[in-house]
Amino acid sequence: MARTGGPGSFVFGEEEKKEVLDVLEGRYLFRYGAADAEGFCHKVVDYEDELRKVMNAKHAVATTSGTSSLLASLAALGIGAGDEVIVPGYTFIASISSIMISGAIPVLAEIDDSLTIDPTKIEALITDKTKAILPVHMLGNPCKMDQIMEIAKKHNLLVLEDCCQAVGASYKGKRVGTIGDIGAFSLNVFKTISSGDGGAVITNDDNLYERAFGYHDQGHKPNRLGVEVGNRSMVGVNMRMNELTGAVALAQTRKLDWILSTLRSKKAKLKGMLQDLPYFKFRTINDPEGECATLLTLVFDTKELAEAFCAKTGGRPIAYSGWHVYNNMEQILGKMLPAKTCNPNDQKYEKHMLPQTDDILDRAVNISVGVVDKGLGAGYGINILSTDEEIEAVGNNIRELILSLGDNK
Ligand SMILES: *Cc1c(COP(=O)(O)O)cnc(C)c1O
Repeated sequence: MARTGGPGSFVFGEEEKKEVLDVLEGRYLFRYGAADAEGFCHKVVDYEDELRKVMNAKHAVATTSGTSSLLASLAALGIGAGDEVIVPGYTFIASISSIMISGAIPVLAEIDDSLTIDPTKIEALITDKTKAILPVHMLGNPCKMDQIMEIAKKHNLLVLEDCCQAVGASYKGKRVGTIGDIGAFSLNVFKTISSGDGGAVITNDDNLYERAFGYHDQGHKPNRLGVEVGNRSMVGVNMRMNELTGAVALAQTRKLDWILSTLRSKKAKLKGMLQDLPYFKFRTINDPEGECATLLTLVFDTKELAEAFCAKTGGRPIAYSGWHVYNNMEQILGKMLPAKTCNPNDQKYEKHMLPQTDDILDRAVNISVGVVDKGLGAGYGINILSTDEEIEAVGNNIRELILSLGDNK
């Protein structure tokens, strides 16, 4: 079977191997240690430093996953029982479930043809319980952050950016995760860069950093050495990254900008071959220079055209591709919220509650550029290692498939 995963996982090489071997040879796998501790390589701390630099963020906390990063971010922001958080209905379940697990209430919002949250549909969802907006930079595309930040400011709301699918993307020159109050990242195997599992929280706010760090490690202050008592201001959990994961995350973070520029040039080549075709539009990219270019998304004129195209590639329109669409989340549909959640406005989650989102996703098809993932409906396309000849072959194949759609009309 052909390889699946994100671009980072396609380019694991000598660099990752060296960092991992350092750790194993030192026989020191825990993230904390004194600078002179025997064998200690501080890979997790180096990964946090590297990430801070790449993102131009003041602080970074390494975590075990994107889900942990979202939970630590929500805890840092003080979001809990009874609070409402506005989140798009097209996202990975973790963006929604992490709000529920925090005791708060997800309020599902429509997406627009960028496949990210539609800022024009946010204000109607704001109530006196609304505490935050959780925009998700879906499929590598940064959200319309100018409009989102303006709404947040006007209504005094916090902004938690879910950057799990857009590690390294930027919006108008700023890396995603540094525009809102706090940003959550994932390094699972389908993301831009990967350490198998893993993640990070980034923020420019000292207090949010201390709280996110504390939540991720039993309330401790950042970078404790040994047993600290008397200095802990909150309760937390354990989401600590270990040194083996940190070693891979460090090597991958160093490759991030090279991965992004490689994907952008491959995507430009493929997209360039499809410009003149009928029956679809490319999804709107909110910042063409800043997107990750992990996927190419076609939005067909009709649902029937999208289905006819997919019948030929063996894929499915995004609406039916499985994960990431609220209609397919049996974990939340028609269910009660967790008992610890108080739900004064009686939020419910029902199929087809977001007609604009349904209409777009019925017609939208993902083609892989760097993320090869059937769960996103992107099992077909190219990857970061594809040669010019391979890209041309895929481009020509897509051209033929789309032109032949006219035969059934
Ligand atoms: C992958 C993903 C997550 C969760 O990341 P994990 O590392 O798998 O926990 C959260 N939000 C979005 C949008 C994602 O794509």
